Order: sequence, then C-alpha cells, then structure tokens
Amino acid sequence: MHARLCISGNYPERFCVTNGVKQGCVIAPILFKLFFAATLGEALPSSAEVILIRFRTDGGIFNIRRLQAKTKVYLQLVGDLLFADDCGAFAHTEDHLQILMNNFSSAAGNFGHVSTTPGPASVLSEDGQSDREVSNYISKASASFGRLYTRVWNSHDITIPTKIAVCQAVVINSLLYCSESWTTYARHIKQLESFNNSCLPKIIHETWQDSVTNLDILSKSGCPSIESMIKQLRWAGHLVRMDDDRLPKQLLYGALVGGQRKIGRPRKRFKDCLNASLKDCAIDLETWELIAYDRLLRRRSIYGGILHFEAERSQCIIQNRLWRKDPLDAAPTGLVCHLCSRPCANKTRLPAHLRLRHPGYASHKPSSSRAMWLP
Ligand SMILES: [Zn+2]
Repeated sequence: MHARLCISGNYPERFCVTNGVKQGCVIAPILFKLFFAATLGEALPSSAEVILIRFRTDGGIFNIRRLQAKTKVYLQLVGDLLFADDCGAFAHTEDHLQILMNNFSSAAGNFGHVSTTPGPASVLSEDGQSDREVSNYISKASASFGRLYTRVWNSHDITIPTKIAVCQAVVINSLLYCSESWTTYARHIKQLESFNNSCLPKIIHETWQDSVTNLDILSKSGCPSIESMIKQLRWAGHLVRMDDDRLPKQLLYGALVGGQRKIGRPRKRFKDCLNASLKDCAIDLETWELIAYDRLLRRRSIYGGILHFEAERSQCIIQNRLWRKDPLDAAPTGLVCHLCSRPCANKTRLPAHLRLRHPGYASHKPSSSRAMWLP
C-alpha cells in the first residue's frame, strides 16, 4: 500500500506502507508510544550532545542565588522535549543538532518509520526571539479574520455581541495560541495591539473618520486589551503545581550549567516576563507560589490583578494622551523651554524638543557627548 501526507496544502512524494494498524484502532496510540520511545532511546542521546541544567525548586523562582548553594541543587540532562506525539531535540551547537537528527533518522529507519518534514506549527528563530512567531500568528489570525468578512462581520442578521464572541473564539484564539510561553518585548505587544485595534472597529462599524480612540473601541466592544490576555500567570501557576520530577518545572526553576552570553544587554527570559506580569497585576512576588496551590485564592488574585492592570493601563494611556494634546496643563514638571516657553513632560523631552523645534539653537550649542566626539 502507498500513502501520501498533506502538509500545509502541499503533497510530498508517496511512500510505501508495509506495516501498521487500521485507522481508529484502539491499540494504535499505545503501539506508537512504544515504538516512538524505543526509537528515541536508540537515537538520543550521548551525553556530549545534550544540555545540562541545574535546578532547585525551593527558595523562590526569582532568587538566583539559591542555585549557587553547594547542596540541594540537582543536575539534569535535557536531550529532548516530548509533548503528545511531538518531540523536540536540542543541543548547544548546530553540529550536535545535526548529529542528533542523523541518529534519529537512522533509528527511525531501523524501526520502519518514515521521516517527513513537519509543518510549521510553531516557528523558532535562530536567536530564540519571538518575533517570527508573533508575525506568523498575526498573519494566521488576519487570514481567519478576512475569511469571515462577508459571512459574519458584514452580515446584518448577526448582532454585534455575537460578532465579538466569534472574533474572540476564532481570531483572538488563533492569534494568542501558545502565547503563554512567549517572551514578549514591548514591540510584540505593540504589533498585537495594533492588529486587535484594526479588527475591532470593523466589527463595531467605526471608521477612522469617527476619531474614536483605541480605549473607546475596547470599552465599546467590551473586550480586554491583548496585553492583559497574554499574561503568563495561568501557565506559570500550572508549572508551579507540577511535581518536582517533571521537566517543565525543572526548566523553569533551573539554569544552564555552562555557557556564556554575549556582551551587551541580557536577553529577556520567561522569568523576567513573569516577574513583570506579577508586578503589573499587583501580586506579591514572595507569596505567589503559595497562592498558585489554592484554587479560589489563585482565581481571585489573577482576575483582580488583570482588572487592576487594565485600570492602570487605561489611566496611563489617558495621561499620555493629555500630555500629547495639551502639554501646557498636563505637564507639572517645571521643565520649560526658555525659547518658546513650552513645558516638557520629563528631562529627556527637553533636549529632544530643542533639537526638533529649534535646530539652529541645537547646532550652536552641541551636547557634551557630541562635542567630545567632534574633531
Ligand atoms: Zn522651544
């Protein structure tokens, strides 16, 4: 018998099927797991190619000094990540990763498996940042929004609350699929928010000529902001409640044993994002792990925290808008331009104002750093 797989609409070449079970057979998943575990056992890993972490699940996740203790710190080899029928292998270098893949391919051949190129469920970039993944999910969500244009968004028979619910269920869910694991920078939030702010006005029939602010659109549609939806608190609580011998928890509470980072500003880690989320939601950093075990308290603190964050966010946006529109009233800093008497919101805005509004003055009086570098 010959078979062919459909991967993202493309059909790679046919392959011959010599062994297998019927579709829907109840022992198929068990057989698959047994074969897959045996294949992985043969293919992975010799200890030179895998990653070694050290971890300790007590003492608070944000306290990095706890990993420097002589005792109570455990070592763990990480060669592969398994989830359902997926397996992700990783190594320190590209060569080691290629060795792992070659081993896996030959082991799969020995067990009669057929290797194909997988479809891109989740996009990983070389530098480990989430940029490509965010762009990928925005394009997918945009495609699903576009497909519903005539049937749902422009339909006169569907009420606006129903349209909003459809948008949340179809578009926003595909936009934020696995967003719990993202390490988000401000630029990602900005991209996601602008996508949301472009979708919602079309549903509630507002155009740019109406001069409605993004905050008004959110309040009219009754949707929360994207930033409040991608707080990693639920996923982090789930990780905290896992047993200590589970790999996800060990990775969250651990650090690499070896390796050096590049010179410059350190990359943001998942822990840093989690720390910022907890602070945004006014949850105590010392006690959040205890709260994660109490279901009622956990729910109350997460929902309360998200509401608190939303209120703070909208307050901040309103304040910034006031400063932008009417700086005379809204800037209480006492920093005033001596040429045109314009007040500035903070110290960094005054030099920027001088440079932009009075270019002649700025060129006559160069800043100290520029003067130092000029010949
Ligand atoms: Zn001025």
